[in-house]
Amino acid sequence: MTPQFDAVIVGSGFGGMGAAIQLRRLGFDNLLILEREDDLGGTWHVNRYPGLAVDIASVTYSYSFEPNPYWSRLFAPGAELKRYADHVADKYELRQHMRFNQVVQGALWDDDGQHWTVSIVGAEPVTTRYLVTATGFLSQPNTPDIPGIDSFAGKIIHTTKWDDSYDLRGKRVAVIGTGATAVQLIPEIAPLLEELTVYQRTAIWVTPKQDGAIPKPVQHLFAKLPITQRAARLANTSALELLMISAVLHFKQANVLNRGAAAIARAHLFRQVRDPELRRKLTPDYDFGCKRPTFSNTYYPTFNRPNVHLETDPIARIEPDGIVTRSGSKTGIDTLVLATGFNLWDTNFPAIEVIGRGGRSLGKWWRENRFQAYEGVSVPMFPNYLTLASPYSYSGLSYFTTIETQMAHMKRLFGAMRKAGADTFEVTPEANQAYLDEVTEKLGDSVFYRGSCDTARSYYYNQHGEAAILRPTSTLAAIRQSRSFPTDDYVYA
Ligand code: NAP
Repeated sequence: MTPQFDAVIVGSGFGGMGAAIQLRRLGFDNLLILEREDDLGGTWHVNRYPGLAVDIASVTYSYSFEPNPYWSRLFAPGAELKRYADHVADKYELRQHMRFNQVVQGALWDDDGQHWTVSIVGAEPVTTRYLVTATGFLSQPNTPDIPGIDSFAGKIIHTTKWDDSYDLRGKRVAVIGTGATAVQLIPEIAPLLEELTVYQRTAIWVTPKQDGAIPKPVQHLFAKLPITQRAARLANTSALELLMISAVLHFKQANVLNRGAAAIARAHLFRQVRDPELRRKLTPDYDFGCKRPTFSNTYYPTFNRPNVHLETDPIARIEPDGIVTRSGSKTGIDTLVLATGFNLWDTNFPAIEVIGRGGRSLGKWWRENRFQAYEGVSVPMFPNYLTLASPYSYSGLSYFTTIETQMAHMKRLFGAMRKAGADTFEVTPEANQAYLDEVTEKLGDSVFYRGSCDTARSYYYNQHGEAAILRPTSTLAAIRQSRSFPTDDYVYA
């Protein structure tokens, strides 16, 4: 039986679209992109909370082959990223392959037919030769299981489901969470509210944000002379790369940089908050780099406002009209904002059930063994399958580096498969093990294992205490590797 599709891609964010662009370049036109949401763009469609913006300079946060000269700011607002995603989908003719509101349940490898069967809630299953999951890392919202939360009588908004029609003006609001999302959101909404109470479990490092509008003449220059934007990208990427390699990956050798960054964040806090007790509460007690740091010039000063309160007493329970902390004090609220992030390790790896050869369940296998994926894209016993949001896949910083590395990997892999006259590939267990050993060893020097991270509660760590997201190599090394990995790390049939 010939499968219905050459490839099914799950997810229409930048990862899924990058895979689709690459597959089309490779001559596969019979593609299906299945998307859970009602529109494309992944993170940048789902997240629409006030203050949303990139936290990697926009020149770097885009496909290198599709620069956008018209970013309005150094750190573009989220709506511009969504528009950029729409532009990419149109230009590369991807929309025709997309089906929205399609919740993929799972995928099963058929060894006889050498294809995948993909099951979709409320629709007929589809068959495909190749399967790509591009479901993102931060795509399963974490809704905290706080006692009494279901009894809350007011409005609850998770930041991934922002309700634009709900007027926050004059409301008494609680925000739970102080991660990157909260750092962007809190300064935006605070001036609108009667009272804002921020429930902080773990403080976050916040460094100054070197943001600003990109003047129109510069945008025109980028459009007319793309090399100028490429130069800006190179300069930005190099600086990020230096930080990433030294402060994160080589913490053992270069932790002076982490201490320097923490000193900058402390000085930032000192300049912006005069109350020593408030400063103490806002100062993290773990090393800079254990958790993704944030950038903001407006987060700390927000806590100086008379209508904003920082609560560090742990939440005991939620009642219909307020939140009670462990000390017994109650704050009355009418709106509860959950800036509580995402669940990566229970529900996201993988985001759908994937059953490979011999009935092997990817999620079960990862949990019973270790989370692993060769070069962050493929897994033994899972033929013709590429998993983009994988353990040890993320090159750090701009996610587009990871996407383009994976696109390059696909090009080499499919090229080798065709050369072998085959249409099935599967990574060998030996190559997979060698990659796992290599990343494990390299991560040994990183801030995650050498730093003081116990109190960071960082989502970089999984349930076994392993920091299994980051691919611990330089961007250059990752790119080189994607273009030169031994093609016999795969078997072809
Ligand atoms: P996050 O970093 O995981 O932060 C979630 C926050 O909620 C943490 O402060 C966490 O406290 C708190 N929390 C969770 N469950 C809780 C509970 N039961 N009780 C009390 N507090 C609870 O999530 P995020 O802020 O959404 O950011 C996630 C990632 O998204 C970022 O690291 C970044 O990579 C990305 N992001 C990027 C941008 C951007 O590029 N512009 C913007 C936003 C987010 P603990 O720390 O104590 O667990």
